[in-house]
Amino acid sequence: MPLMKSWVETANTVDCPFPLNNLPYGVFSTDGGAPRCGVAIGDQILDMKVAEEAGLISVAGGVVFGGASWNTFMARGKNAWVALRARLTALLAEGSDARAVAEPLLVSQRNATLHMPLEVSEYTDFYAGRHHATNIGTMFRGAENALPPNWLHIPIGYNGRASSVVVSGTGVRRPWGQLKGPNDALPRFGPSARFDIELEMGAIVGAASNGPISVEEAYSNIFGYVLLNDWSARDIQPWEYQPLGPFQAKATATTISPWIVTAAALKPFRCDTPAREFELLNHLKDAGPMLYDIDLSVTMAPQGGEATTIAETNYNEMYYSAAQQLAHHTSSGCPMRVGDLLGSGTISGPEKSQRGSLIEQSWGGKEPFTLQSGETRTFIEDGDTLTLIGTAKGDGYSIGFGDCVGEMMPALDDPYKR
Ligand code: MN
Repeated sequence: MPLMKSWVETANTVDCPFPLNNLPYGVFSTDGGAPRCGVAIGDQILDMKVAEEAGLISVAGGVVFGGASWNTFMARGKNAWVALRARLTALLAEGSDARAVAEPLLVSQRNATLHMPLEVSEYTDFYAGRHHATNIGTMFRGAENALPPNWLHIPIGYNGRASSVVVSGTGVRRPWGQLKGPNDALPRFGPSARFDIELEMGAIVGAASNGPISVEEAYSNIFGYVLLNDWSARDIQPWEYQPLGPFQAKATATTISPWIVTAAALKPFRCDTPAREFELLNHLKDAGPMLYDIDLSVTMAPQGGEATTIAETNYNEMYYSAAQQLAHHTSSGCPMRVGDLLGSGTISGPEKSQRGSLIEQSWGGKEPFTLQSGETRTFIEDGDTLTLIGTAKGDGYSIGFGDCVGEMMPALDDPYKR
């Protein structure tokens, strides 16, 4: 599909992350006003609250854009998703006769503050990137036993915390936690010294389910995607995680990008999952191309310094699609809600330059890497800014998510000092 032209001129360049082909959904405010829903187009945002009040947009079932999240709209159902995208496309297309009415409802992105685009109902994180799982497994268990025996049969996951999901730009405070190194006799309580990122995609469930659903149904229940940084304390995790999985190591924060890119916008970028070593069981069987070709990268910038690209990979490196993860999630009968967020698991490619976490980049802290400033890193230092970037490259256009940014703030004093 080629670039679809908009009367918003800035949307018509090959590099603009928000062309008419994209139309991602976010929440914004201006001048300290109330946050409200908006749609990005070029360097502008269409104010959905005002557009609805003006009668330019109407969704079956009554007012949906009075609040500060997209949950109410998602809950209106798949027909509403299709209808709104069609309406927005017509409204913003080159030659639209609604231009005169719509143009005054645009807000410059320069003047807007972006907020959480959805209320996250629940958050689940998976471990479905093969290169990542192999690298981590090699470090912890040796190359022979790198992949756990279940890995090629099941998308491994854990239930995370919706309360800790934050929007891009939110500072992340270095946590304290219980730490015990391999040579320590006893654990101690201290600030994490091995704080890390995880480059992931987040899938947003837009339709509720109650009981086991198929991969096809799961695919159609996914409303859209965000970039997701699953911040991880690598020195808290190894002590706490056996036998129930990650807990406080993953509970400090998870950052998502500010714009939800809809599954509809990503449709031209669908691709297949890789060849299977073992046939998947019925509830996980591939049912068409449900993964996406999205270029992903990570930059790191020391305080006041320029950003260095430290990893470049692609979402198509996943072994399981989000649809397979969602289907698996429901296989026990687990109900899913509108606004559930599913992290893909860290996405790494086969090369060193394609590793989506610092523990892989520095091979467990043993191999420091160098930034453009000449400084070296193994894990995140205070004041470092980490940015995830995602781009799907179309025929003369790009689909972006808005950057997923977080700055590491220094640990506070011991919260339990006595
Ligand atoms: Mn993760």
